[in-house]
Order: sequence, then C-alpha cells, then structure tokens
Amino acid sequence: MIDPFGRAITYVRISVTDRCDFRCVYCMAENMTFVPKAELLTLEELDRLASVFIELGVRRIRLTGGEPLVRRNVMWLVEQIGRHVHEGRLEELTLTTNGSQLERFAADLYRCGVRRINVSLDTLDARKFEALTRWGRFEKVMAGIEAAKAAGLAIKINCVALKGVNEDEFDRLIAWCGEEGFDLTLIETMPMGEIDVDRTEQYLPLSLVRARLAQRWTLEDIDYRTGGPARYVRVKETGGRLGFITPLTHNFCESCNRVRVTCTGTMYMCLGQEDKADLRTPLRASEGNELVRQAILEGIARKPKGHDFVIDRRRNRPAVRRHMSVTGG
Ligand code: SAM
Ligand code: SF4
Repeated sequence: MIDPFGRAITYVRISVTDRCDFRCVYCMAENMTFVPKAELLTLEELDRLASVFIELGVRRIRLTGGEPLVRRNVMWLVEQIGRHVHEGRLEELTLTTNGSQLERFAADLYRCGVRRINVSLDTLDARKFEALTRWGRFEKVMAGIEAAKAAGLAIKINCVALKGVNEDEFDRLIAWCGEEGFDLTLIETMPMGEIDVDRTEQYLPLSLVRARLAQRWTLEDIDYRTGGPARYVRVKETGGRLGFITPLTHNFCESCNRVRVTCTGTMYMCLGQEDKADLRTPLRASEGNELVRQAILEGIARKPKGHDFVIDRRRNRPAVRRHMSVTGG
C-alpha cells in the first residue's frame, strides 16, 4: 500500500479497547464515556481485519488501547495474529501496555510470538505514579515489568515528559533502564482530547530536555530506527538506547508508515487529523473480504501529509477531539 506521498504503509496499530484501568492525567479525564460494548468489533472481526491488512502488505502490527490487556479474552486475538508471525507472513506483533496485567500475561505473550513490548512508565516514584495514573498501583506494574523481562520479552519504557512532574527523574530513569537492559523513549505530550488539566502547563519541549541530559550523559547519535517516529541516541555511560518522540518540536510525518484502527473499526490515517475511514460497515456487509479491502485502500489514498499539533495559550483547545486512548498513540 503506497499513499499519495509515496510512503509505503506497512505498520498498523490496532486499539482493541478504549477502556483502561488507569486514568493518566495527560491522557484521560477522570470521568470518561467509553464506546458502548455493542459497538465494539468482536475479537473475530479484529482478527479478520488484521489478516486483510497482512494480505495488503502490512508487516508489523501493534496492539494498543486503552489498555489492551483489559479486553476480555484478548489473548485469543494475540494467539490468532501470532500465527502469522510463526508462519512468516508478519515480521512482528507487539503491544503497548501500562503493565498492570503483565504479571498474568507475559509468558503467554511470548508463547504467542510477541518478542518486544512497550510499557508506559512516567515515574519511578510510587506516590507520584499513583497521582499521575489516578488509579494505578506502582508495585503491580513493577512486578509486571519483571515478569515480562523474565519471560524473555524485550522492553521499551515509554515516558511522557511532563513539566514540573517528572522532569527531575530522567537521570534516574536512564540509569534504571541501563541497569535493566531496557530502551527508554521520552515523549512530548500531544494535544488530544479534553482532559481535566491545562496542557500548556504540562508541555515540556524535548529539545530542552535533551540539552539538559547532554550535560550529564554522553549521547551518541545512532542510526537505530524501529520504523517509528523516535530518534535514538546511545547513552555511552549505560550502553542503553534513548529515544525522543517530538511531534511538537520536530515534525516526524515525512517518514510515516502507519495507520491506526480503533476498537469500533474506524481507521485513522493520521494520529493528528480527524479524517477517517469506516471499516466496520464493509466488514459486516459480507463474509468475504473484498469490501473491507477496498475501504482500506480508499482510506490510504487519502492519507494526509501530516499533523498540525500546536500547544499554545491562544489556542488552548485539543488539536483533535478524540483522546489518545481511542487510537492508542
Ligand atoms: N494503555 C497503554 C499504555 O498506557 O501504554 C496503551 C495506550 S496509551 C494511550 C499509549 C501511549 O500514549 C502511552 O505511552 C501514553 O503515555 C501515551 N499518551 C497518552 N496520552 C498522551 C498524550 N496526550 N500525549 C502524548 N502521549 C500520550
Ligand atoms: Fe490508560 Fe494508557 Fe491512557 Fe494511561 S496512557 S490512561 S494507561 S490508555
């Protein structure tokens, strides 16, 4: 699948649920209205959709959410998509998770063909963690991360950089990830969905963070890419990789290779734009896959050049109305 700007689309992120057992302050409001269960694609439909994407040339699939591991029977879906990995049609099946259920599922994920996961962790301070996630339990997440490591999964820690909240912890996170053998990616907050706090207060440009880190650590530019928007450096002192995702200070759209599908079967061609394609209607309209295949290709033909994220005081509205938990980041 090639989009109008010549970019090959080989990566799909599927949000299997918009629900979550946390309420991270930068992601959700405390009281959220979720999609009614009746509107969700079934796990069988999600599996069918994944197969169509793979037939169309997708090589990597990431399951996300909301929290993907709180969807009931999600391991059935992981197992089904994992078969494509075992049989060589899919290069990689990965997952982004808040870690709360990893203790339970880590070994199964590995068995189903998952080799790498992203775990979101913004702080190593238990009390701060509980304030930031509102409902999360730090010990449970740490136990989940240990279980994932023990199961043989490679781990990347995703950390949203928040002004005045965790900016004093990046050194500690770099050191900890180095010791544990985890990659670390710092992410700028993106203006998605109404939340209960002011985003201009939270926004911390990573250009600034990087300059500060460079005073303490030796950051060596490396070529490593995971097919995503992160730019990586090697931290010489720990040997670990450190990534920066900077949608606001650096536009990463020129190399975009992905689309996103929500748990209701809506495909978003760009994280930062409202345009979308309905895949649920064509999925349900016939048993064969021709209609949904066409709908995917029509959507890709409209993939926009890039997002228009801005965070400033004059425009203190989200760039897009939906929350990150709809498309899963
Ligand atoms: N619940 C899972 C988790 O937290 O990893 C998967 C979904 S979560 C929406 C995916 C990623 O998006 C997390 O790393 C989270 O920190 C990040 N995220 C959520 N809201 C964001 C925002 N407004 N700006 C930047 N990143 C955000
Ligand atoms: Fe849930 Fe992930 Fe959003 Fe936190 S960032 S509320 S864990 S979906």
